[in-house]
Amino acid sequence: MNRKKMVAGNWKMNMTNDESVNFINQLKSTLVKNVDVKIAPSFTNLYNAILLLDSSEIEVIAQNIHYEDKGAFTGEISAEMLKNIGVKTVIIGHSERRKYFNETDSILSKKVKKAVDNSLKVIFCIGEELSERENGNHFELIKNQLKTGLFNLSEQEIQNTVIAYEPVWAIGTGKTANNHQIQEMHEFIRQLVKDKYGIGFSEKIRILYGGSVKPINAKDIFSLDDVDGGLIGGASLNISDFNSIVQAANG
Ligand code: PEP
Repeated sequence: MNRKKMVAGNWKMNMTNDESVNFINQLKSTLVKNVDVKIAPSFTNLYNAILLLDSSEIEVIAQNIHYEDKGAFTGEISAEMLKNIGVKTVIIGHSERRKYFNETDSILSKKVKKAVDNSLKVIFCIGEELSERENGNHFELIKNQLKTGLFNLSEQEIQNTVIAYEPVWAIGTGKTANNHQIQEMHEFIRQLVKDKYGIGFSEKIRILYGGSVKPINAKDIFSLDDVDGGLIGGASLNISDFNSIVQAANG
């Protein structure tokens, strides 16, 4: 099945508003014909980024969301706030959120539901630690992350979701999973989606790879059967690297 590739840059806690404006002005000339290109600036830069990319194909997405509608949750951002400034997609379950902010699969499940209830699309991240892979538990772990965090959605609710497989040991480390490991896990994930939601959706859902994707390895990774693009951390902060990765997905 021909799925349109997606490349999403996760800026994490990087770039001031000024730096973000500068980056976006350069990014605007990027050719994105056959690729869905997204950037995820920090919350302070979101609105400006949306205004700057208003007439562009490049989408500005959020890095996080809270699962409550509103109230006494200091420092948090609601679905309604994001929607109100024009955000349409949110990353949920990034390993840094899991690790440093104790976001468990059941918390993530609430976030996913809140996003979907507010018509926000979700990029749901999953991935194993190195010790889990070394113990041979990585398939079971991924299965549980999906089951508890994402698979509570109904068939109708899950339609706009993208899954990002990001082995934690490959994030920001310069270590990439090898092509065999990537394809094997993506195929496994697609099979789980098929078992739960049927073949139609399993063929349609996009599964991104994340973990030290760089210009040098992007083309190889994106050519794997079950890889539909990438979630890019470090390399998304450099305009020329990010452009090269987008072009690698362009085919
Ligand atoms: C990420 O944080 O989602 C990521 C994949 O980071 P990096 O590309 O830097 O490994």
